[in-house]
Formats: sequence, C-alpha cells, structure tokens
Amino acid sequence: MSSLPVINSATPQASESGEQPAGSGKTHLLNQTEPELRDWLKDRGHPSFRAKQVWRWLFAGRASTFDQMTDLPAKLRTDLAEAFDIFVASEAHLSKSRDGTEKILVRLADGGEVECVLLKDGIRRSICVSSQVGCAMGCVFCASGLDGVDRNLTKGEIIEQMLRLQHRLPDEERLSHIVMMGMGEPLANLPGVLGALDAARDANGLGISPRRITISTVGLPPAIDRLAQQGIPYNLAVSLHAPNDELRSQLVPVNQKIGIGPVLDAADRYFVSSGRRLTFEYVLLGGINDSEDCARELTDVLKGRTVMMNVIPYNPVEGLPYVTPSNEAISRFKQILEASGVNVMFRQRKGDEIDAACGQLRRNRGSLNKK
Ligand code: SAH
Repeated sequence: MSSLPVINSATPQASESGEQPAGSGKTHLLNQTEPELRDWLKDRGHPSFRAKQVWRWLFAGRASTFDQMTDLPAKLRTDLAEAFDIFVASEAHLSKSRDGTEKILVRLADGGEVECVLLKDGIRRSICVSSQVGCAMGCVFCASGLDGVDRNLTKGEIIEQMLRLQHRLPDEERLSHIVMMGMGEPLANLPGVLGALDAARDANGLGISPRRITISTVGLPPAIDRLAQQGIPYNLAVSLHAPNDELRSQLVPVNQKIGIGPVLDAADRYFVSSGRRLTFEYVLLGGINDSEDCARELTDVLKGRTVMMNVIPYNPVEGLPYVTPSNEAISRFKQILEASGVNVMFRQRKGDEIDAACGQLRRNRGSLNKK
C-alpha cells in the first residue's frame, strides 16, 4: 500500500488518512507508520529495511534532518528530503525554570500554538504533551480553553512535541514517562493520541511502556470505553475537581450533560479491563472546592475504589478570579483524605515561574515576547 502523496506535487495534498500536509506541501514523516514508509521505499526501488533505519534515526538517533542519517545512501537521503518533512512546526518560545522544567511553545505550520513540557524529577524524565489547539471542555479555571478549540493535532504533531522535548536531553538520558496533560482533551482526539502513543510505545520508537504513559481526561464515558477496548494498559487520570454534580457542573461545564455517576462508572470499567489503578485529579481552588465538607464528600465518592487522588493546588491564571488555597486549607484537605485511607498525592508545583500550567504560556505569549 502506498498512501503517500506524489513527491514534489505542485499542490499540497493531505495523506489518505485525512491528515494535514506539512506547510511545505511535503508529507509530515511523523504522520506515517514504519510499514507505510516501507511501502514508499519499495515503490521507489529502495530496500524496505531502510524504513527501520530511518525510524531508528528519528527516535533513538534524535535526528532532525535526513543528512544526519549518515548510514543511508546519499540518493535515499535526497529522495526522503524531497518527499518528507521531519519537523513541521517551529519553537516560538523556550522557557526554563530553576527546577529544571523546560517548556516549549510550539508554533504549528498553520500558525496555531500549543505547549509541551519536560519535567526532571530524580531519574525520571517526564514529558507533558498537548493533543489539541485550544480545548472545547471549558473548565472555568483553565487557560487552555479560554478561546475554545481550534482543531485536533495530527498524530505527527503530537509525536513532534515528544521528539522536540527528547532532543533537549543530554545523549545519555532518555524519556521515561509521558502524560497527556497539555492543552486539549486527549479523548476528544483519540485517533491522533493513540497513533502518537503507538510510536511512543514501539520498541523501535521511544520504547516507553504504557504503564509509564498517562492519559488525562475531563471524563468522556464513551471515549473512555473506546480507550479500554484498545486493550493497552495506559494509566487513566480523570479530572474530577468536585465531589458532587452541582459543583462539578460549575467548574467543568461538560459535566452538565454527563454527570459524575457515569464518569465514575466508565472509570471503574476502565479499571476492571486495564487492571491499572485509576488516578483522579482535583485542582484545589481557594474558597470553592477546598472546604472540609468537600474533602469529606470526596472520601465518600472514592470509598471502595482503588485510586490515587492527585490534588493540585491551583496555578493562578491571569485574568481569572480563582486563587490558590491557603497552606492551612491545603493541609486540612489533605488530612481528611489521608485519615479516610485514600491514597493521596499532593502534586508539587513545578515550573511555576514559566507558566507550566496548561495553556498559560500560550496565553501569556504577548508579554513573553516583550521580555
Ligand atoms: N483535558 C484533560 C487534560 C487537561 S490538563 C483533562 O481535563 O484532564 C491536566 C490537568 O490540569 C487537568 O486536571 C486540568 O483540570 C488541570 N489544570 C488546568 N488548569 C490548571 C491550573 N491553572 N492549575 C492547576 N491545574 C490545572
């Protein structure tokens, strides 16, 4: 099967999978699979084993140009460079924080912008990657969805974020964990996300076990079921943020049409089919969902479930009226959860000074450019 556009075609074409072409009119190589590249090579008289070599160069060899693929014949490198782009986006801004966190604002070929982050914690090298330009979920405290959603990212655009972050590591370090917690709702872009995670898991790709990959969702039950049907033991994190429908619907507007009950049921089904412990996320907003009553109600909701409760103090977003709770409120909340036997993790805030909460860097790019 050859599903790629004709080389040097005058009009930019999308591949048959409906993915967008790169801005140059060439095909985004990261939107292809290794077998698709094999077919392309075969059609042009190159040995198909070269596909594996190219893939190794992309993922293990950290190549960003075909010229760097020094064990490929020169003619093949030229053919590849005429047909494909490896990277189609550019880095609009890079910020580094004192704790080692690095954040890239990626400008896509069509001018859209997304963010991705590299976090260093002991020997862990985790990356947080975006799945959409903007977000349609409308969580009231989050910077990503303030202007709604523009479009889904292609598989290749998601992989490109992973590779750009990988390239920031010294040669002897490798990426260990991936969290789909950047901009967007990953389960609203399942084809793009699953395709990218295939490459992340592949032994000839980034070689990261699905047990070290977390998909964070606002909680879309049919999509959670579709994810479960893949049969791949990704970790699922569900953004709960409130213990009851009244409060959750205020903070997470999509909850009005869904409701906590169906979200929890879908999460339970995911737990049963994947065998992976669930994570629930709870952003603590001062004076809104951080009361002792909320904490107690939350312990009732979690009773009987095998979960890790990830409590995240709010990272303030300019222009929004929400605040980080006081340290007192945070520790009271923590004590109540812990006393009830809930596994709870209070996430350290990393990269605060570089706007590491999702959507913030893009939001603040105007002021960044002035710095
Ligand atoms: N759409 C997915 C991924 C979003 S980002 C989801 O809803 O899970 C990952 C987490 O960061 C979500 O729990 C999200 O609610 C949270 N978040 C968003 N903005 C935040 C902020 N300003 N401070 C702290 N957490 C935030």
